[in-house]
Amino acid sequence: MKNKYRILFVSSEVTPFAKTGGLADVCSSLPKALFEQGHDIRVMMPKYGLISERKYVLREVIRLKKIPVWMGKDEHHASARSAFIPESKVQVYFLEYKPYFGRNDLYVDAATGKDFPDNADRFMLFSRAILETIKLLHWQPQVIHCNDWQTAMIPWLLKHEYADDPFFKGIKTLLSIHNMTYQGSFDKNILTRIGIAAQEPSLIDETIIYDRVNFLKAGLMTADALTTVSPTYAQEIQQDQTFGAGLMDILRSRAKDLYGILNGVDYSVWNPESDPSLPAHYSANDIEQKIENKKHLLARMKLPFAEQTPVIGVVSRLVDQKGFDLITEEIEKILSLKCQMVVLGMGEEKYQRFFEQAAKKYPDQFAVSLTFDEELAHLIEAGSDIFLMPSRFEPCGLNQMYSLRYGTLPIVRKTGGLADTIIDFVGDPERGNGFVFEEYTGNAMLQALQNAVKTFQDIKTWRKIQKRAMKADFSWQFSAENFGKIYQKMI
Ligand code: ADP
Repeated sequence: MKNKYRILFVSSEVTPFAKTGGLADVCSSLPKALFEQGHDIRVMMPKYGLISERKYVLREVIRLKKIPVWMGKDEHHASARSAFIPESKVQVYFLEYKPYFGRNDLYVDAATGKDFPDNADRFMLFSRAILETIKLLHWQPQVIHCNDWQTAMIPWLLKHEYADDPFFKGIKTLLSIHNMTYQGSFDKNILTRIGIAAQEPSLIDETIIYDRVNFLKAGLMTADALTTVSPTYAQEIQQDQTFGAGLMDILRSRAKDLYGILNGVDYSVWNPESDPSLPAHYSANDIEQKIENKKHLLARMKLPFAEQTPVIGVVSRLVDQKGFDLITEEIEKILSLKCQMVVLGMGEEKYQRFFEQAAKKYPDQFAVSLTFDEELAHLIEAGSDIFLMPSRFEPCGLNQMYSLRYGTLPIVRKTGGLADTIIDFVGDPERGNGFVFEEYTGNAMLQALQNAVKTFQDIKTWRKIQKRAMKADFSWQFSAENFGKIYQKMI
């Protein structure tokens, strides 16, 4: 019989309540999978202004109307309400503290385009409020499963500030790293404000690197176990300073506690047979209907439709990590392959401007939507023929796996989770489910694009690869079992 545990799962984003990227999808679908495996799992996240209380039916929790949280000398009062992840029995507590989380944006102020200046205060308060909440609930998890820098201070708090509190004795911590580049790095002058300056200097040292406070470092040093979101990325961050983003030596020192577990896909949300965002449903055995989605997508993006012209989709945060310098440098050569391209994304100004210009320059071939639009993301997955992810690095990547299920063959660079999920059709025709290039250059990417476009013209072969891709199974079950094993080991 498998062991079942009490798990508190904490994250700054959870789909569908608040999302900026893959973190949110994982922090919704993994708890659901762990629940399915019988664990007593509860989720906590901030109650941002953008989370609709009516839509998600947030309920008062009597005990949690006033949660005292100390930050240094200041006492704050948070509160919490609860709901369920839609279509599931996983309970989510939304921690509310309006001065910090009442705004709509998660991390970046839309008005300035810059990080909120009080992000350290916000997520330190969130972390402390989580610990105070479970105490008020009298619910003692065996493991607190933290995600990224926003909750990485929890293991540190437990090890130090809360070490003498019997309620927290024996609680283990696991920190999942979704992306090493986001570390929660702040000027040292925040230490007093976030209430850790009164600690022993040696303890404070655990939070400092390169003369700045670094939440991720504190978590890496003090969590009982660490995971990252794919086996290849787990290796890369320990072997290469760039991937390790300045924390490689710390990761190496934790090698025996660091596991690479591939993210899974929530096929109840990403399934072309039932996806409510699609005008036409289809499956591996009935791919012909897919083209209706292509027509719809092109009409929506105001591009002309031609069955023979491959549509290349991109859905991504517009940041350097995702390989947009390659796409922008090579846009002319990409479009000379007689394809069309549809981009959905928000992010760096330089890329937004570039894509706006490109849409004007190539009105029949290129279209962009600079929004965050969940429904359009699904339509692009279904309506494109090819999905492009030329990432410089990619901890796991979800879109390539979504693309497989939608029969939209991915072109990826061989890095991180992309290397763990996509097999190059040209190199391995028997198993290939996409197109892979290795060198981070425009030429290498173009070669893969050429291979894809050429293969697309051979409809029989294309269908064969599509079927193979659509039948691949990246559901959570296997990975959730692996998390169960790590919990067991810690406990
Ligand atoms: P990352 O977490 O680095 O952003 P992933 O591939 O792991 O990359 O996950 C990205 C997730 O965010 C996917 O679910 C993708 O569809 C979604 N996404 C990214 N940008 C947008 C956008 N502009 N509109 C809708 N969904 C988006």
